[in-house]
Parts: sequence; structure tokens; C-alpha cells
Amino acid sequence: MDLPLVIVHGGAGSWKDERLKVGVEYVEKAAREGFSCLERGGSVLDAAEACTLFMESCGELNAGRGARPNRDGELELDAMIVNGADITFGSVAAIIGIENPISLARYIMERTDYSFFAGGNAHRIYEQMISEGYREEKTQGVVMGPHVSSTSDTVGCIVVDKSGNIAATSSTGGIPNKAPGRVGDSPVMGAGAYANQCCGASATGYGEHIMRVVLSRTTVLYVEEGQSPMQAAKRGMEIFEQKTGSEAGIIVADAKGRWGYATNAKAMPVAVLAGNGLKVTSFTCVNEEKQQEET
Ligand code: ASP
Repeated sequence: MDLPLVIVHGGAGSWKDERLKVGVEYVEKAAREGFSCLERGGSVLDAAEACTLFMESCGELNAGRGARPNRDGELELDAMIVNGADITFGSVAAIIGIENPISLARYIMERTDYSFFAGGNAHRIYEQMISEGYREEKTQGVVMGPHVSSTSDTVGCIVVDKSGNIAATSSTGGIPNKAPGRVGDSPVMGAGAYANQCCGASATGYGEHIMRVVLSRTTVLYVEEGQSPMQAAKRGMEIFEQKTGSEAGIIVADAKGRWGYATNAKAMPVAVLAGNGLKVTSFTCVNEEKQQEET
């Protein structure tokens, strides 16, 4: 139960074994990115943005540059950031032509009167963000991280600082072969991610089903009711499977630095970096039944 804490997932699904190694490598790198941002004095929002932006730009995960194309062959992205301190959020959905929707989601949360923009008009907000200098554009559609920063599946993270402030994110290109305009759970508050002063969660899997049980909010509520994040993650997945029969995964972290994870999909890469930041714990969270079916 060490603080600060960064926990990251690289998406739950039917990962090919050789791709899993890459997934684990990149969630580990992303956790380090978020943690080093905190160490350099960044806030939980800075760290969550930097961590997620790294995964969007790495090209190896289903977000940002590496996103799965929609049926028109376009990278149509969804993302959200949640500030647990006051339960505010910023979301962007179905945006084309940018690499880092997470920064735009944060801009929407911090600098507009609204919480959620979609489609072509979300791109106008992106242009406003760049022209105001909120983020610098490296190349067209690609932004620099928050300035404290040095620098295939849905991604998300939860960051908790030493004082117990929590931020959570999700960012995705969506499910395979999605219809243009389709939006999943990732930018939907309470479904793809959620955070309050007690706990944060970030989910991955079939968005149509995750939204039906508002998976992230439901799981956080279990922690508020007294379960540990690990128990809550497992309970959240049980309820999800009972109600929908579908596949998903979730990571959870609370203000005390306790964390948990669960998936009923074949696999979900996870990385955790906590305390002094010396040792990153990275692994593949597996669904044992599904692993046995494969072998
Ligand atoms: N949840 C994402 C969506 O439905 C997909 C994923 O997690 O891989 O868009």
C-alpha cells in the first residue's frame, strides 16, 4: 500500500501470445512515464495524461497512432480523463485526424464549459486548444505532453499521488471493424473510467456491454462499501459477466494505494509502479478458464 501509485492496463481481449510480451513492455514503459511525471512535481492529471499519451503515441496499443481503424479505414478515437478530487471529467469521441485525444479530453475538462465533444466539431476544439497554446503540436495532430513530461489494445490508467488524489483515464480506437461513428464505453463517464475521492477504475472490453453495467462506477462503489480494490475488481467482473455474458477487464486503485485488477477475457497486460518507484510490477492478468481452453 505504497503511494504514489500508477496502475496501467493495455486492454483486455484475445491477445496473441507473441503480442502479449509487447503489450506488457509498453504498459510498463507507460507506468514509468506517469510515475516520473509525478516525481518531477506533476499532478495526478499531468501523470495520467503523460502515461496515456505515451500509450497513444507508441503505436503498439489500440489507442492513438496504433488504434484499430474503423470500417472506412480511419482511426476514429475516443478518450476520457476523470479528476477524482471533484469528480469532473473531459471526454472526446469519434475524432479523426489527431493522435492524442487524451490531451483534448483534459482541455475539454479544464478549459471549456462542457464535458464531452464528438466528431468533426471535436476537431474544432482541438484546433482551439492548439491555437490557445494549451498544448504544443509536434506535428499535425500530435501534441507534446504536459510540460512536466520529458518527452493492439485500449489503454487506461489510474494515478494516485502521496495525498491520495486520484485521476483515471481511458483511450481507444474501439472494437475491431467498428462502424464509422460508433462510440464505445471509453469516453463515457462511469463506464470506461471513473474516479472520486475514494477510488478510481478504468475498464476495457466490449463497450456496448460495459456501458450496460456502468462497470467502472459499479466497481468503485464496491470499494466505497468496504471491499478491497482486488475484491471489487473481481466482483465487478462477476456482475458484468452475469448481466451481459461478455468479456471485459478492469483495473482499480484507491486513495490508500491499494490496487486490484480482473478480466474474464483471455488476457490483459497490467503494470503497477508504487512507492519509491524502483520496481515496476508488470504481468498479464489472465482468465484461467480461457487459458486452459487454448492449451
Ligand atoms: N472498450 C473499447 C470500446 O468498446 C474497446 C476495448 O477496450 O478494447 O471501444
